[in-house]
Amino acid sequence: MSFAHFPPMPDFPPGEVWLAGAGPGDPRLLTLLALHAVSAADDIVHDALIDPRVLALRRDGAELILAGKRGGRPSSHQNDINGTLIERARAGRRVLRLKGGDPFVFGRGWDEVLALAGAGIRYRLIPGVTSGLAATALAGIPATTRDTNHAVVLAAGHRADDDQARADGSARDKSSADWEALARLGQPIILYMPMTQLAGITAALMKGGMAADTPAALLHAATTEHERVVDSTLGGLVEDALAHGIGSPAIVVIGAVAGLRQQVLSGLVGWQ
Ligand code: SAH
Repeated sequence: MSFAHFPPMPDFPPGEVWLAGAGPGDPRLLTLLALHAVSAADDIVHDALIDPRVLALRRDGAELILAGKRGGRPSSHQNDINGTLIERARAGRRVLRLKGGDPFVFGRGWDEVLALAGAGIRYRLIPGVTSGLAATALAGIPATTRDTNHAVVLAAGHRADDDQARADGSARDKSSADWEALARLGQPIILYMPMTQLAGITAALMKGGMAADTPAALLHAATTEHERVVDSTLGGLVEDALAHGIGSPAIVVIGAVAGLRQQVLSGLVGWQ
C-alpha cells in the first residue's frame, strides 16, 4: 500500500486547535486525517471513551488531557474545556481536541468552535464516523433504502445538560425533541443517548401514531468487543433493554429499516 499519490497531509502549526472525530470506538475507523492529527499534536484533549490504542499513536512527549479535568480537578463544565483549548493554543501548542464519533453530532463541537472563533484562535475541523450510522450499518441495518424511507432522523434521547436545566428550573430549549411530531414523519429514528428517557420517548412515539410493533433494535457498544445487538419493537424496547441488560453507550433505531437485517444476516460477517 502506498500513499504517494494521495494529497499531502496539512501542516499542524503551533497555536492551532484541530477538532476531530475519532469514530465510534474501533481504532480502525479513524480517518487518515484524524490519524495524522493524533501523530502531530503536542496536546490531545480527549473524551473519556476514546480507545487507548488511538491515544497510543501520539508522538513522544505529547501530552494527554482528559476533557472535563482541569488542573487535576474533575470538572464537567464546557467552559473549562473551552478554556483549556484556548490557553494551550495561546501558549503555542498544537492542540488536538479529539471527540467520539463526529464532533458535530451531539458532541458539543459547536460550543468549542464558537469559543475558539470568539478567542481569535485558528482551528481546523475533521469529521468522524458517527456512531449512529456505524452501529446501524454494522448490524446490517441500512439507514435508508429506496423502498422504505427518504429521510432519517438523528435524535438525542437525553442531552448532557438536561439535568442542569432541571436543576435551574429553566425551560427546555429548542433542541429538545417533539417526539409525537417526529413519529408523524413516518421516517426511521436513530436515537443517541437513548437509555435514561427510553420509556417516555417510546410512549410519546406511540402516542404520535407509530405502531407498537414497528421494528426496532438496541445496538450496544458498536465496533468494540462488547458489541451487542438486540432485535426488538417500539413497544418492546424498554422491556428488552432491561431483559438484556443494555446500558450506555447504545444506539436505538426505530423504523422499518430495523427489521430488514433478518433478510441478510446469513452472510453478514461479524465486525471483530
Ligand atoms: N459525537 C458522537 C455522539 C456523542 S453522544 C457521535 O457522533 O457518535 C454519546 C452517545 O453516542 C452515546 O450515548 C451513544 O448513544 C452513542 N455512542 C457513542 N459510541 C457508541 C458506540 N460505540 N456504540 C453505540 N452507541 C454509541
